[in-house]
Amino acid sequence: MSGTNLYFDYNATTPIDPEVLAVMSAVARDNFGNPSSSHCFGHPAAALVQRARLQVAQLLRAEADEICFTSSGTESDNLALKGVVLPLLLQGRKPHIIISAVEHPAIIETCLFLEQAGAAITRLPVAADGTLNPSQVTAAIRDETVLVSLMLANNETGVIFPVNEISAITRAHGILLHTDAVQALGKLQIDVSELGVDLLSLSGHKVYAPKGVGALWVRTGVEIDPLLHGGGQESGLRSGTENLVGIAALGRACELLTENMTDEGRRVKLLRDRLESELDAALDQQLVFHGHRLLRVPNTISLSVPYVDGEALLAHLDLENIAVSAGSACSSGEHQGSPVLRAMGVNSDIAQGSIRISLGRWTTAAEIDTFLEKFTIIVRRLWAISPLYKNR
Ligand code: PLP
Repeated sequence: MSGTNLYFDYNATTPIDPEVLAVMSAVARDNFGNPSSSHCFGHPAAALVQRARLQVAQLLRAEADEICFTSSGTESDNLALKGVVLPLLLQGRKPHIIISAVEHPAIIETCLFLEQAGAAITRLPVAADGTLNPSQVTAAIRDETVLVSLMLANNETGVIFPVNEISAITRAHGILLHTDAVQALGKLQIDVSELGVDLLSLSGHKVYAPKGVGALWVRTGVEIDPLLHGGGQESGLRSGTENLVGIAALGRACELLTENMTDEGRRVKLLRDRLESELDAALDQQLVFHGHRLLRVPNTISLSVPYVDGEALLAHLDLENIAVSAGSACSSGEHQGSPVLRAMGVNSDIAQGSIRISLGRWTTAAEIDTFLEKFTIIVRRLWAISPLYKNR
């Protein structure tokens, strides 16, 4: 997309699709009206929001009035969890929530906040391949359980959780089920009725729309409290004058996915699988790949290079203008393996050498070839100067 820079970090964020950008500039130029205004400037603005609502709903096979636009995936996750749990805390109850140990910080940190406010949280462990067994959910349910929140696809490994099986359990117990579908949208077909969830979060900038727009899908009949109080926009669920440009962009981005997702997924999966197998062969099967081989989204690779620090590898790739993401989180100067990989039981030495490679709409076969060539040279160079590698 951008000259000689190779972008392999689509799970972090995506470029804006030119067709989405065209909608954005047209809306910014032609529609400055406030959607709440009852006049000839407000009406077209309100119609744009409504159109986008339909476009997002169609991708999810949902109803348009079930879509609540937000500012991000993070806000959608906060709205889902706090919207269910805070009213119960205010009534003096002690609600219980079930999540997994590998959720995004938007869920993990929100749960820490709710825990401090009096809620009880269960964090389910995952298997070594990152999968989750639905029977763990059954075992964790208590009388006070009000909400289960499990991601549809993991941002680091791409591993898919069996959310549709879990919904059979939550429904039987009369418990709400939220799924963070931020990394699944555009990579998996989503049908909210088939999934059986009650609340679903998504984010614009992961699906070729801009940053600063997201949505929460709320099943008809599910009551949650707003986080933002004010003018009562979004059916009272999210006050604040609508981000017209962002919302129209998200709508168009979802429409493009409805049209092209299947072909795009197939193309990206072929490239991803080739990259993975050729990397493995080029480095003599010494790489460690993380996550279930089949139950994962088509664009993501999570791997560790033994005896190499993920951050060092990232820096060397960056010098070659190749962008990937390091799986390890660095806090106060100390490298810790990624919490996701640690939850999968990956030992800390291997976890520290982890990187995430994620492909997308503009990844080409030629970019895969360049990546393979440069990555192999860099790893061999790093191994050559690693005493640990020599003494292995
Ligand atoms: N949930 C998951 C699984 C994510 O990967 C992300 C972003 O990386 C988010 C939530 C947060 O979305 P946003 O960046 O729109 O706040």
